[in-house]
Amino acid sequence: MAILSVDNSKCISCGICEKSCKFQGVKIENKYPIFNDNCTFCFECITACPTSAITVLGLEKKEFDTTLWSGVMVYLEIKDNILSEVSKELIGKARELANTLSEKVFGVVINHNINLEELKTCGVDTVFVAEGEQFADFKLDLVGDCLHSIIEKVKPSIFLVGATNQGKTIVPYISVKCETGMTADCTSLEIDKNGNLIQIRPAFGGNIMAEILTENSRPQIATVREKIFKITVDVKTQAEIVKVQGLEVVSKYDVLKIVKKAVDSDISHAKILIAIGNGVKKKEEIAVFQKLADEIGGELCSSRALVEAGLMPQSRQVGLSGKAVSADLMFAFGISGSAQFLAGVGGVKTLIAINADPDANIMTIANHGIVADIFQTSAEVLLSLRKK
Ligand SMILES: Cc1cc2nc3c(=O)[nH]c(=O)nc-3n(C[C@H](O)[C@H](O)[C@H](O)COP(=O)(O)OP(=O)(O)OC[C@H]3O[C@@H](n4cnc5c(N)ncnc54)[C@H](O)[C@@H]3O)c2cc1C
Ligand code: SF4
Ligand code: SF4
Repeated sequence: MAILSVDNSKCISCGICEKSCKFQGVKIENKYPIFNDNCTFCFECITACPTSAITVLGLEKKEFDTTLWSGVMVYLEIKDNILSEVSKELIGKARELANTLSEKVFGVVINHNINLEELKTCGVDTVFVAEGEQFADFKLDLVGDCLHSIIEKVKPSIFLVGATNQGKTIVPYISVKCETGMTADCTSLEIDKNGNLIQIRPAFGGNIMAEILTENSRPQIATVREKIFKITVDVKTQAEIVKVQGLEVVSKYDVLKIVKKAVDSDISHAKILIAIGNGVKKKEEIAVFQKLADEIGGELCSSRALVEAGLMPQSRQVGLSGKAVSADLMFAFGISGSAQFLAGVGGVKTLIAINADPDANIMTIANHGIVADIFQTSAEVLLSLRKK
């Protein structure tokens, strides 16, 4: 684990490190800086220090025998007592990667009241099951420590997790425990010529695709959002179920009360989507498109521009920092087609873009482009729907 260290013989007690820190991660005490748990290792203070007194310890490359690790493991998340969609999508991808490596596919599930029959045919070779009442409510330390023990025993080379709320919570915990790297929100996964996992994801605001390797530690951990990969189940495979027992893990949390969020329909699963962008400027204008969505039997969603303007909820944002969608039909009203927006529409079968600008980027990827005013077009579509 890396830590920051100060060479007191170089430190001139100027306090610049404390002032440069945005996280209150360092305080000057008795003339010299003391780092605390708020530190996020952003390294701003190292750059700011005029005498180069601050250094990082623990970043030395350690020898690590990657040959002891083999197989692709998928975190099987259970939602409403059944295997989540994203877990099924990841199993298909895991099988593809494992075939390239000539290795096995493992599943791991930690929950209460698990349907073992479903897991036997989910397409993996072996499922490691930790079951018990203590897992009924998701507690990070309990599930995390249990998962860490299983990973240390099974030693999978690759560990894939859905980028769900649960997945995003657990992966950093496991990554720290295993002292290995992780890549969030991958959009593609491949194997390089040395058998390493190439974790591909948009970077720098979606303008480039970064290829990330975890060469010197294991497992190679990647999260993937729902709808990025397709479900392809190997129905011939009957999974061996291995019940994991004797894990002595305790939680420091007590769940006192669970407050359910109001349920909003999930745009990731919608078959028809009406997407609106910056061409819509006011709350009252949204009603027109909501009406259109209702009459056509679709869901309303938007670009980030409208979420930032406070006109649409984040749960309905499509794109890199929103949701990936895979509708059969999507209308994009007044959306320019930024790389970040397009990162979420790769799974859409038919995209119809309506935009006043014939040169808008979205016109280059839409199946049909209509150069027109969005309000006029939406009114015409509504009218023609009502005539039918
Ligand atoms: C790290 C990062 C992550 C991001 N993540 C996302 C993301 O997940 N999703 C996302 O959407 N964006 C995301 N963005 C923002 C993205 O870069 C764009 O700013 C955003 O997508 C623009 O939204 P827009 O297309 O609605 O708006 P604009 O780019 O402003 O386009 C509006 C379009 O509407 C057309 N128009 C306007 N009025 C009318 C009219 N009356 N009739 C017809 N056409 C009209 C215009 O010609 C224009 O093409 C992200 C940015 C960063 C840096
Ligand atoms: S590394 Fe970043 S967060 Fe940590 S003390 Fe320095 S400036 Fe603050
Ligand atoms: S910025 Fe450098 S010299 Fe100044 S107090 Fe911090 S460590 Fe010391």
